[in-house]
Amino acid sequence: MNYDLVIIGSGPAGLAAAIYAARAELNFVVIEKTGVSGGQVLLTYEVNNYPGFKNISGYDLATALRDHAESLGSTFLTGEVSSLTRERDKTFHITCEDGTEYVSRSVIACTGAGHRKLGIPGEEEFAGAGVSYCATCDGAFFKNKTVAVIGGGDTAFEDALYLSRLCEKVYIVHRRSLFRATGSLVSLARRAQNIEFLTDMVPKEICGTDGLVSSLTLKNVRTGAESSIDVSGVFVAIGMTPNSELFSQITECNKEGFIITSSDCSTQMPGLYAAGDVRTKDLRQIVTAVADGAVAVSSLVKYLSD
Ligand code: NAP
Repeated sequence: MNYDLVIIGSGPAGLAAAIYAARAELNFVVIEKTGVSGGQVLLTYEVNNYPGFKNISGYDLATALRDHAESLGSTFLTGEVSSLTRERDKTFHITCEDGTEYVSRSVIACTGAGHRKLGIPGEEEFAGAGVSYCATCDGAFFKNKTVAVIGGGDTAFEDALYLSRLCEKVYIVHRRSLFRATGSLVSLARRAQNIEFLTDMVPKEICGTDGLVSSLTLKNVRTGAESSIDVSGVFVAIGMTPNSELFSQITECNKEGFIITSSDCSTQMPGLYAAGDVRTKDLRQIVTAVADGAVAVSSLVKYLSD
């Protein structure tokens, strides 16, 4: 079947794009790898900065967005896209792992980003045995224990605050003394009794006993001195790497792999748009992902009518 639009991914950007595509009466589908919508939002315990909701769980927000898109008639398909080509007739051919092929006049990449790795000894060995990339998923395993959160951004602080409600003690380990995280999150963490800041420190090695994490070796970046803290868990929150491999074959990405876009979410390949965390932008938030979805559809409607 030939579509006007195929949306790949159904986090907030993909869901907002679906809402706008349905309202524009486009012939479109959303292809989602896991069959579950929401992306990273699903793993967010509480969202406090999505306008109109003082406090909503990530699950509830993702569910509301999906319900909205479905209520307007959006079709969601489950499948892992394995190749994307643009043919001479300007159509995109999208092939899934199971061999299903879709042909579309335009595509929006809404594939988001995955967790960046530390790349230090012990990280891979103890993944799932004390090393985690998701505090809301794994925090409960560390009830009344001591854990370290690595990073100085919003995710690290949100994770640390969440874990501080469950754990006996939480270290925030950051490589600088200034934090990238929003001031209000930093203030909340400073006020928490059981959060200790270890700044100007980089993790060197995650060590374990009997197959479980037991300590973290740190290096002070100013003095070079090494030290060790006893922890049962290490939560890595050092940013994201974009899920852009599929698109990098047909359009340009920056050196970190984010898809280069204009402010209208168009890429350097006519008909291909990118929305949400996978594209180059200054602020990666749910609200900006949702805005991208709307902007991308509005731009591609003009492209399709040309
Ligand atoms: P981020 O803002 O890129 O922060 C990553 C942090 O990890 C930085 O503090 C960085 O240090 C540190 N880091 C990076 N590589 C490292 C390494 N190899 N070793 C040690 N530390 C390392 O990532 P994020 O916190 O995941 O947030 C991603 C985006 O999502 C941001 O735009 C953020 O605002 C947004 N977000 C928003 C919310 C919210 O609004 N509720 C929640 C979560 C995330 P430096 O500071 O030194 O670079």
